[in-house]
Amino acid sequence: MGWPGHAPYELAPEAGKRLHWLRRRLLSWFARNGRSFLWREPDRTPYEVVVAEVLLQRTTAVGVARAYSGFIEHFPSWTSLSQAPLECLESALRPLGLWRQKTLAFQSLAQSIEANGGAIPRTRTELERLRGIGPYTASAVLAIVYGRAEPLLDVNMARLLVRFLGSSEGAEASPKRTLHALALRLVRGKRSLEANWAALDFGALVCRARRPLCPECPLRTRCQYARSLKLQPTPSADVLSG
Ligand code: SF4
Repeated sequence: MGWPGHAPYELAPEAGKRLHWLRRRLLSWFARNGRSFLWREPDRTPYEVVVAEVLLQRTTAVGVARAYSGFIEHFPSWTSLSQAPLECLESALRPLGLWRQKTLAFQSLAQSIEANGGAIPRTRTELERLRGIGPYTASAVLAIVYGRAEPLLDVNMARLLVRFLGSSEGAEASPKRTLHALALRLVRGKRSLEANWAALDFGALVCRARRPLCPECPLRTRCQYARSLKLQPTPSADVLSG
């Protein structure tokens, strides 16, 4: 599938090979270092997944982790959410920022899903019609609730791809479409969700926006950005990259 609204994009074979290598390294790193969040646990319900993804919009996972279980205890279902007084919802959301927008989004979302018999839509088009669900959250719902190989292309994953691969063919003319194609190649196949979480966590913890941990990064031997810095191998990095 291409970036929504665009024709499919063909990756150069070299980019495909490098992404294959990147995926293997990320999965191996994730097995030892991945972050553990309640909303990633296997027994989570579709309701809990959607709530987490809306809470995560434009805020940090660490901040959401502090508020998530209390929110779910307070509002355990679409019904409780749709019937909650606005001031209750507002006070639960206030610590996370954007609380007015999120309050209205949750209320509208809960009412729409209740009107749909409690079922969460299964297509991107239907999902994006709902208030509070944009392209990223739709991808997350399709990936986590319905097990589709959808890339969760956020700033962390985008930064990692751009730094690791350097400039890609077609990136200047259509950066969004190119990035989406690269991200899709990274996560498609088995263990798609793990590959997504691995890229998100790696971008947040190692390939950080400021001061990325290049000298000890397990990807640095093939990373374009690290090559441009002319990093020398270090024993600790070799151990990590094993
Ligand atoms: S070597 Fe640096 S820029 Fe490259 S992936 Fe690792 S942390 Fe990011």
